[in-house]
Amino acid sequence: MTAQVQYDVEDGVALIKISNPPVNALNQVVRQGLMDAFERADSDDRVGAIVLSAEGKTFPAGADVREFGRPRAAPILSDVCARIEACKKPVLAAIHGHALGGGFELALACHYRIALHDAIMGLPEVNLGVLPGGGGTQRMPRITGANAALDLMITGKPISADRAAEMGLIEKVIHKNLDRAALASAKNMIAQETPARPTRERSEGFADPVRYTEAIKSWRGRVAGNFVPSVRCIVDCVESALLLPFDAGIALERQCFDDCERGSEATALRHAFFAERRAAKVPELEGAKLRDVSAIGVVGAGTMGVGITISCLDAGFPVTLVERDNDGLAHGVDRVRDNYEKSVGKGRIDQAAADDRMARLRGTTDMADLSQVNLVIEAVFEDETVKRDVFQQLDKVMRPGAILATNTSYLDIDALAATISRPQDVVGYHFFSPAHIMKLLEVVVGAKTHRDVVATGFALAKKLRKVPVRAGVADGFIGNRVLAAYRLAADFMLEDGASPAQIDAAMRAYGFPVGPYQVLDMAGLDISWARRKRLAATRDPSDRYVAIGDRMCEQGWFGQKAGRGYYVHGHGLGPVENHDALAIIEDERRKKGISPRAFSNDEIQQRCLSAMVNEGARLLDEGVALRPSDIDVVLLYGYGFPRFRGGPMMAADQRGLLTVKNALKSYQEEEPKFWAPSPLFDELIKNGRHFSDLNDD
Ligand code: NAD
Repeated sequence: MTAQVQYDVEDGVALIKISNPPVNALNQVVRQGLMDAFERADSDDRVGAIVLSAEGKTFPAGADVREFGRPRAAPILSDVCARIEACKKPVLAAIHGHALGGGFELALACHYRIALHDAIMGLPEVNLGVLPGGGGTQRMPRITGANAALDLMITGKPISADRAAEMGLIEKVIHKNLDRAALASAKNMIAQETPARPTRERSEGFADPVRYTEAIKSWRGRVAGNFVPSVRCIVDCVESALLLPFDAGIALERQCFDDCERGSEATALRHAFFAERRAAKVPELEGAKLRDVSAIGVVGAGTMGVGITISCLDAGFPVTLVERDNDGLAHGVDRVRDNYEKSVGKGRIDQAAADDRMARLRGTTDMADLSQVNLVIEAVFEDETVKRDVFQQLDKVMRPGAILATNTSYLDIDALAATISRPQDVVGYHFFSPAHIMKLLEVVVGAKTHRDVVATGFALAKKLRKVPVRAGVADGFIGNRVLAAYRLAADFMLEDGASPAQIDAAMRAYGFPVGPYQVLDMAGLDISWARRKRLAATRDPSDRYVAIGDRMCEQGWFGQKAGRGYYVHGHGLGPVENHDALAIIEDERRKKGISPRAFSNDEIQQRCLSAMVNEGARLLDEGVALRPSDIDVVLLYGYGFPRFRGGPMMAADQRGLLTVKNALKSYQEEEPKFWAPSPLFDELIKNGRHFSDLNDD
């Protein structure tokens, strides 16, 4: 046997154990080893029953990520599963850890299953744009029926051992000594002459064919508008489990798997998966020493300060929260408490956990109380003078080596660092709103930021369960720079003839959960207004300026919080078009002598995408972003960019860089500077390369 698959016989039981650390991924060597081991066990006269288990921390947690998107070398998982199932002797899977994807399919091919009480099982292939390809779509519904199988495969959500037992997927939940329990069960099977029980021959899940068919119909309706084709394939495959012979169902599953895996959606989803891992690799980590972060200070208990505080409390840190005055502080602390009360109410955490978190929170109005913390994240107003003043106070009270992080959205971190005595300890930790929910954290590295401070930011992100991306100093870093370009492209179209509702609908049709004007209304129009006012003095007067947003703000229409913005809110009907806003738009067109023209959804989408990609290319040129995939991660996790498109840079690769560049050139006449293609396009196109070729691995 290979080192990855061990074979032993004990008391007439063949013990087949997978050993491929760290997660027992099912690569080719493991698959071949399993083929050989089951072949041997089946023909070994000493053997009356077989146990399949895994060494280390988990049952196979899935396929080998290095094989994603590549043709699999034989034997493929489906053949391994068929071999296991064909054994003449009963086969028992003993599951612990995370039996996910191919790992769980392997277990489903066994005749019986037991699992440790804290084991997790699931079929999350849909998250990578594919479907279970090892027979899962055919075996699982034979046990559970259509509804439970579809729920598991379409949501991709894992289930606990208890839930799996309720669903009939495992025979028994084991509380300790899984190996011993498995051996005992197998010996019992031999004694009782328990027969092999191929899942392909089971039919409990088909007991009520009407219900089965109804579940198929209902799920087909639910996934009708889904952008990822594999969800519809899953429904087809589960339907075929009832309608077709087993082998024909397996053939359909294979065909669907191959088609989906080659599709643009799965390619983009795989890209997103690898992009997130890649973003965690930054040059500063090499040779860095992590600074101690055992207690955190947050300055400013507004929207962001409260969210950051919750995020840090959730991760187990003690937090000192500083506000300007007692009223502001009490309001902030109340919001933290409200959040936990709601979490308890919804059953997300229990009262003891909520009490523990509140007990770690200390509120104060005295900056001197931050003298003992090792990291402060300031989230005061987005105003250079206010932030500078806070930093100078922090410089006085914080201990040497402590980290001073700013959550600024746009301000120059180097300028801020230059005003204090320890610029090497200054960094940007840019959270997104709501900060305790949104996964993205831009770690903004200033000219003098010490590598230890950067590395500590990445380590902290992990503890906070965030996805960190390195960004250099620039107005808006990565995300807000790309967002600004996206919004400007949208504003130009608004002025030229499109309506906010039309642009929003087009971007939803592209896959965004909400369009740019819905986001503006939700976030508050005053935030971008403040930025435009800040930049007014340095704006090139020859640049096209769209004043529609300013005119709305002058009326006090700050969006949702004011009841009015690009939409009218608060009538219980959801947002409805604001006719007064449309009148402002028409007035602005008249003033500029613009005759409105029609825009198709495709043109709206392509203009917005081209603007985002071009800004991304400029960020790469300027060294603000390390690699294209980092820009994708920022847009995916911070701005709702549709994951099945992989992010703007990936979407541009898929569309074709020449096509995107030509689109930019065709718009260039209208606004020469804004639409000028970044030189990076020509550099890549000339060499037959894509953005993805710049992603180092
Ligand atoms: P906010 O107005 O809701 O909160 C700011 C808080 O800081 C207020 O409670 C204010 O009383 C307090 N404050 C002001 N000066 C202070 C001082 N000297 N000492 C202590 N507290 C002081 O603002 P916000 O939306 O939470 O934004 C805070 C920062 O986060 C800004 O820099 C903003 O650009 C950035 N940011 C905001 C968002 C967002 O979506 N709101 C997202 C990312 C980053």
